[in-house]
Amino acid sequence: MSEQRERTTVRGTPVVPGVAYGPAIWPAPRPALIVEAPTLSEDERDTAQTTFVDAAKAVEDRLRARAAAATGSAAEVLLANASMAADRGWIGAARKSIAAGVPPVQAAIAATEQFAAVFTKLGGVTAERVTDLEDIRDRVVAELSGESEPGIPTPAVPSVLCADDLAPADTAGLDPARIVALVTVRGGQTSHTAIIARQLGIPCIVAAAELRSVPAGALILVDGAGGEIVSNPDPEEATALVEQYRVERDRIGAWTGPGRTADGLTVDVLANVQDGAGARAAASTAASGVGLFRTELCFLGRDVEPTVDEQASIYGEVMDAFTGKKVVIRTLDAGSDKPLAFANHADEANPALGVRGIRIAWQDKGILDRQLDAIAAAAASTSSSPWVMAPMIATPDEAREFAEAVRVRNLIPGVMVEIPAAALLAEQILEHVEFLSIGTNDLAQYTMAADRMSSELAALTDPWQPAVLALVARTAAAGKAAGKPVGVCGEAASDPLLACVLVGLGVTSLSCAAAAVAGVGAKLGTVTSAQCEAAATAVLATGSPAAAREAAVAALS
Ligand code: PEP
Ligand code: MG
Repeated sequence: MSEQRERTTVRGTPVVPGVAYGPAIWPAPRPALIVEAPTLSEDERDTAQTTFVDAAKAVEDRLRARAAAATGSAAEVLLANASMAADRGWIGAARKSIAAGVPPVQAAIAATEQFAAVFTKLGGVTAERVTDLEDIRDRVVAELSGESEPGIPTPAVPSVLCADDLAPADTAGLDPARIVALVTVRGGQTSHTAIIARQLGIPCIVAAAELRSVPAGALILVDGAGGEIVSNPDPEEATALVEQYRVERDRIGAWTGPGRTADGLTVDVLANVQDGAGARAAASTAASGVGLFRTELCFLGRDVEPTVDEQASIYGEVMDAFTGKKVVIRTLDAGSDKPLAFANHADEANPALGVRGIRIAWQDKGILDRQLDAIAAAAASTSSSPWVMAPMIATPDEAREFAEAVRVRNLIPGVMVEIPAAALLAEQILEHVEFLSIGTNDLAQYTMAADRMSSELAALTDPWQPAVLALVARTAAAGKAAGKPVGVCGEAASDPLLACVLVGLGVTSLSCAAAAVAGVGAKLGTVTSAQCEAAATAVLATGSPAAAREAAVAALS
C-alpha cells in the first residue's frame, strides 16, 4: 500500500493545457472467452435463458443511457450499438443454444460467431459491423461473468481517464463533468483524440509512454500544459494548483472578443466544430464564427450515406447557431484515421496517402454533389451564405473543379492547404477560389513525412517545425498578394503563442477548438502586430521547434 502512495512522475506530450486532479480510471479489459463448458441440465435451461436475456438488456440499457448523455455522432454510434444488443436474431440464436444445453456465456460466443460469419460473407460495410457485434458480445459476457463492462467506465466521481489510445467515437462520448482529464500512452498532438479533448476543453496529454505504471484508483495530478502526470501528489498542493488554474481560466474566460492585437489589427478568432451541438456550445464563447466544420465527424460509424435532407438538417443546425456570422463548412474529409464506411475503401495499403478528402469524389462524384446540394439547401433554409472548402487539395485543377461545383450552387468556394504542393502553388490555386484555410495538422504530417498518429514521431509533427511555418508564410504571402483571406484551422491556431506567430506570418483568421478561443483571443490582445511580425521573422530563422518557441517567447513578452 505504501508503495502505491509514493509520488511518481510520468511525462508525455502536452496537448490541451489545464490542471486536473482525481483518481485514474482505465478502460476495463475484454473478458476471457472460454468456449468449453459443461452442458446445462434440463432444469437449468429456463433460468439460463432469463439470465442471458437480462444480461443483454442490461448492456442495452447502459448503452442507451450513455447515448442519451451524448450528442451528435457519438450519440448515434452508441444508439446503433445499443440496438445490436437488442437484436432479435442474435438473441434468438443464443436462446436456441441455451435451450439445447449450452451455458449463456458460450451461447453468446456461438451466436456471435454465427452472425460474424454471415456478416463477413456479405462483405463491405456489413463485414465492418463484426467489430461492433464482438464488442456487444464482450459486454454481455462480462455482465454474465460478473466482471466490469469492458470499454470506458462511467465513474462515480470526477476522474482522469488513462488509456492506451481511444477511438474518435469513444472520446466524442465523454462527459467532461465526469472525465476531468485525458492521458494516453499513444497518439500525437494532432491525433483525433487530441482534437476531441480540445473540443471538450479537458486537459490532455498524449504519448505518455510510461503511463501503464499508473494503476487504476491512484490519485493523479495532470498538468496539460507541462505534459506531467504526477501520481499521489500532496493533496493540498494538488487542490491549490487546480484552484490556481481555475482562477486563471476564469480570467481568460472573461475575454469577449472581437479578436484584435493590442494596436488594433483585426483577426477573426473562430471555432472548429463537429456538429450542431458543438456549434451551439461554440456560440456561447467569444468566437466570431465557425472556421472549420468537420462534416465527416457527423457520420463516423454510419454504414450508409446520409440522405441530402438529413445532411441539410445537420448543416442547418450549425448555420443556425451562428446566424449572420461567418461559417466555413468543409466537405467530407473521409479516409485515413477518419474512414467513412460509405465513402472509403476498407483495404488501402497506405490510407494517409490514399483516397481521402477531395479524392473520394474521383471514384464517386455523386457523394460530393449530394453534399454540396445539402449545404446549398441548408444555406437557403437558414438564409446563410456559408463558405465551403475542400480538404486535401493538391493541384490548381482540383481547386478549379471544386470551385465550379460550389459556385453553381451560389456558395463561396475555398480550399484547404494541407499538402505542401498546395502551399507551393498557392498563387495559382487562389486564381480559382476566394479563400484558403491552412490545415497545419496534415501540413506538418506531409511536410515532415511523419504520421500524425505516431507518438514516436510527435517531435516531427510539432506545428512549431520551422519548415511547416515557412509553408504557412508562403501561403499567407500569396493570399496578401491576391487580396484574399488565408486562415489557419489546424491545431496550431489553438496554441495562444503560436497563434500570434501565425498572425505575424500574415494569416488573417484563426480557427481553434471552442475551448481554446478565449485563450487565443486574450493573448492576441496583449501583443502588437509589430511584435507578431518580429516573432514570425525570428521563428523562420530557427531550425527546430524548441528554438522557434524560444524565439517567439522572446519577441512576444
Ligand atoms: C488539418 O489537417 O490541420 C485539419 C484542420 O484537418 P483535420 O485535422 O481534420 O485533418
Ligand atoms: Mg487535415
